[in-house]
Amino acid sequence: MKFATKAIHVGQDPDPATGSVTIPVYLTSTYQQAEPGREGKYVYSRTANPTRDALEKSLAVIEGGRYGLAFSSGMAATTTVLMLLEKGDHVIAGDDIYGGTYRLFEQVLRKYGLQFTYVDPRYPDNVENAVRKNTRMIWIETPTNPLMRVVDIKRISRISKKAHALLVVDNTFMSPYFQNPLNQGADIVVHSTTKYLGGHSDLIGGAAITSNREVQDRLKFLQNATGPVPGPLDCFLVLRGIKTLAIRMECHNENAKLISEYLSKQPKVEQVYYPGLPDHPQKEIVKRQMRGYGGMISFELKGNLNQSKKLLTKLRVFTLAESLGGVESLIEHPASMTHASVPRERRIEKGIKDNLIRVSVGIEDCEDLIDDLQTGFKAI
Ligand SMILES: *Cc1c(COP(=O)(O)O)cnc(C)c1O
Repeated sequence: MKFATKAIHVGQDPDPATGSVTIPVYLTSTYQQAEPGREGKYVYSRTANPTRDALEKSLAVIEGGRYGLAFSSGMAATTTVLMLLEKGDHVIAGDDIYGGTYRLFEQVLRKYGLQFTYVDPRYPDNVENAVRKNTRMIWIETPTNPLMRVVDIKRISRISKKAHALLVVDNTFMSPYFQNPLNQGADIVVHSTTKYLGGHSDLIGGAAITSNREVQDRLKFLQNATGPVPGPLDCFLVLRGIKTLAIRMECHNENAKLISEYLSKQPKVEQVYYPGLPDHPQKEIVKRQMRGYGGMISFELKGNLNQSKKLLTKLRVFTLAESLGGVESLIEHPASMTHASVPRERRIEKGIKDNLIRVSVGIEDCEDLIDDLQTGFKAI
C-alpha cells in the first residue's frame, strides 16, 4: 500500500461492535476484568487505550517503523527518549536543535547527570570527533530550524553505530510524508504531532517511532511508569490529521516552492532559506534523503530590525504567531519570538540574524499568500 492509503486505513478498520467507520474516542480510564487478576487486552488507560492504539499503529506504519508510541507533547516524547539513558551517559546533539529540546537538555537533564555536547552536524567529522567512551545517543534535526540546514542522516548513522549509540532524529519539520529517518539508519524518530501530523493547530501531541524491540519495550515501560500520555480525544484528532497528511504536505510544498521563488526575486529580500531552492548548498543530500521540501521558509530582509518587525504587522492572511505545520500560514520573527531565549551573541554566531523572518506556509490559495506579502513589502 502507498502512503496516502496507509494513512487513511492502518489501525482504523471499522469498529467490529458497531460498524463505525471512524475509530471511536474511548473516553475511559479503566476496563472491566473478568475475574480478579484476569486482565483483558485493556486494563487502565495510562497503559493503553484503543483510540491511542489506533494512532500508534498508524504512526509506526507511516514512519516506516515497527512500533509507535503517542505522547502528550513533542517534549514529552523527547523526555521519555532521553530517559533511556543513565546518569553519566553522553549525548551529542545538533547545535541548532529546537529551543525547547536544548532547554530540556541543559536546564533539566544535566541535573540528572547526563552530559551534552553540541556540534554542527552538517559536517559529520564534528560528530565523529565528539564521540566519547560514554556516548550513548546522537540527537539531530534535519532540516534545522530556522535556517533549513540539512544533515546527512546516513552518514551520522554510521558514526552512531560505530559508537554503539542510538541515533534519534526529530522529524517534525519534514513529517513522515517527505522523510523517513528510520530507513536512513536512525534508531528512533521523534515528532511533535502538534505540527504537521495534527496539522490544524488544535492540539499538542508527540510521538516516538522505532523498529528496535528493546528500545520500544523500554520506552513503553518508561511511558507507563512516568505517565506522559495523550488523551483519547487528542489521539483522535491526530489520526484525523494523518488522513489528510499526504494532500496537505503536497500543498504546503507547492505553496512554499512558489513563495520561496517569489521571495528570491523580491528586491527587499537579502537571502532566502528553503531546501527546494536550486541554490541550496546541500542539494545532493536533500535529493537523497527527502521526497519533498516541506512548508518552512526563512528569509532575511534588507534594512534594519525595525523593518523586519514592521513587515510582520502589515500582513493580513499570514498570522503573526509561533508554531508551524497547520493549514493556516504563520509568520514570525525568530530573534524576538521562537529564538529569543538564545543569547544574541550565540544566535548571530549560528547565523540567525536580527532581520531573519520565518514562515510556516499554509495551504491557502497561494495567490492570496503572495498578494499579502506583496502588500506587506510595499508598506515598508
Ligand atoms: C514544536 C517542536 C517540538 C516540541 O513539540 P511540542 O509538541 O510543542 O512539545 C520539538 N521539535 C520540533 C522540531 C518542534 O517544532
